[in-house]
Amino acid sequence: MDHRFLLAAAGIVATGVVGALLAGPDRPGPGGATPPVLTKLAIPAIPAPAVPPPVSPAPVAKAEKPLVVNGRVQPRKVKVPYRADGRYSVAPGTGKARKGGGEEIRYMVEVERGLPFEAREFAEEVHRILNDERGWGRFKRVTSGPVRFSVALSSPRTTNVQCLPLQTGGELSCWNGRRAVINAVRWAEGSPNYGRDLASYREYVISHEVGHGLGHGHVGCPGKGKPAPVMMQQTKSLASCKPNPWPHPRRLRSGL
Ligand SMILES: [Zn+2]
Repeated sequence: MDHRFLLAAAGIVATGVVGALLAGPDRPGPGGATPPVLTKLAIPAIPAPAVPPPVSPAPVAKAEKPLVVNGRVQPRKVKVPYRADGRYSVAPGTGKARKGGGEEIRYMVEVERGLPFEAREFAEEVHRILNDERGWGRFKRVTSGPVRFSVALSSPRTTNVQCLPLQTGGELSCWNGRRAVINAVRWAEGSPNYGRDLASYREYVISHEVGHGLGHGHVGCPGKGKPAPVMMQQTKSLASCKPNPWPHPRRLRSGL
């Protein structure tokens, strides 16, 4: 179906522009019947689609001022696609458990391929959260061998699949029996109950889902104005509690 030949055969040299548009980026076909005029007109049509792309990346170059909420510099917002590769990669690198008593729990971090997050960066943040003095305990990050659980950053689509039969609606995160499935959209954007404090929301979602992995179930708000227990479903409702991302919010930095 080469319209150029039809036009050329009809001898409509004046409509060469139309011919070029119809022909698109195709090269002149064999046969040598194409008149030189038509070929000449066809050439400018080729670079035309290439003009717009250089214009669009320009706004990205704008430097953003970091957002500070509750005294903390907030992570940069990232746009997360609904679906990524569907397969996980184990995040590279290892991390020692914090010092102190109690069992050392081995775990690994996975990141779905194709998500706009650096696997190592995500893993380091997870590790910091888990080993915080206010956190659940002592966690050693590994890349192989037996692990108690994994923390898996997942696209909304993969979250939906991983969390079945629980309905996550592309929004929630879950514990599915061996993975703390962290929905990358929420990781990127947070949750309304945490407002613009994305850093605290991230601490909450990791502590909460890993809490399930350690055998903890949901609890309610213990009283008006109290810190919400980490195992309360804080993204659904805070009731009369205040947001709190930590299992042990009152633990001092010095003591265990
Ligand atoms: Zn839960």
